[in-house]
Amino acid sequence: MVLDDLGTSLRSSLDKLQGKTTLSESDVEEIVKEIQRSLLSADVDVSLVMELSDSIKSRALEEEPPGGTTARDHVLRIVYEEMVELVGDSTELPLENQTILLAGLQGSGKTTSAAKMAWWFSKKGLRPAVVQTDTFRPGAYDQAKQMCERAEVDFYGDPDNDDPVDIARTGLEETADADVHIVDTAGRHALEDDLIDEIEEIEGVVDPDRSLLVLDAAIGQGAKEQARQFEESIGIEGVMITKLDGTAKGGGALTAVNETDSSIAFLGTGETVQDIERFEPSGFISRLLG
Ligand code: GDP
Repeated sequence: MVLDDLGTSLRSSLDKLQGKTTLSESDVEEIVKEIQRSLLSADVDVSLVMELSDSIKSRALEEEPPGGTTARDHVLRIVYEEMVELVGDSTELPLENQTILLAGLQGSGKTTSAAKMAWWFSKKGLRPAVVQTDTFRPGAYDQAKQMCERAEVDFYGDPDNDDPVDIARTGLEETADADVHIVDTAGRHALEDDLIDEIEEIEGVVDPDRSLLVLDAAIGQGAKEQARQFEESIGIEGVMITKLDGTAKGGGALTAVNETDSSIAFLGTGETVQDIERFEPSGFISRLLG
């Protein structure tokens, strides 16, 4: 089975089914309870957890296990399939010329993620450039420039220009030789009207192929409103969850994925440019259930 890293309580509930060929309602209840406990503590939204629980319960009790399948394997397969449905596939990212716009609140990890994504595309044989339009956060320019040097990718920013829209326009012209443009934007501590106005203007100039929302793994309920506002203003095609090297499991980001009808593109797993992984459902599912 693809899930190799289940939490001990869930594993022991499943192990109780060893040798059984049919599932009772109480067997299923016990397993679903363990799953709920794990997902809620991983910050997955309550209504998403309830929907998932209902699907697992009804499928586990109604579907006939295929011949030769034990009750344990039957329920485990259903849990896995329903979890895949919940977390989704990774965002499609063709390895070709494209412009990616990054959105998110200050501190979510946008600037770091811009350089990481550029590094990732460079390893795929493309020539990426980062355009830094964050004129709001002191230090954003230097941080982006240094990280892009470390990633050995093209960079454009202008510390003497305080007009992010103008920087975006000039930046795309100045880095015209690159195949993949990653445009970093300013965040704020909270969603404010001027942040939304600014990113809409940048989006108008940049005309991105896809906009990605950068979210801290520790985000909980706040994900919903953020995702909704960015979705309304620029449209969100994918999410990057950062700081997964910490203790947070990133379940809150699923609310954003659900709200924007999008998917997860990348995971951030540390502070250096190489600490990026393409999202892949089974590892993330094991982490949520672990
Ligand atoms: P921005 O304000 O959205 O541009 O956020 P930054 O890129 O400046 O990141 C904020 C802080 O989070 C910085 O200290 C980064 O080093 C840190 N950070 C970003 N991504 C990760 C990650 O995946 N893991 C860890 N541990 N730290 C991260």
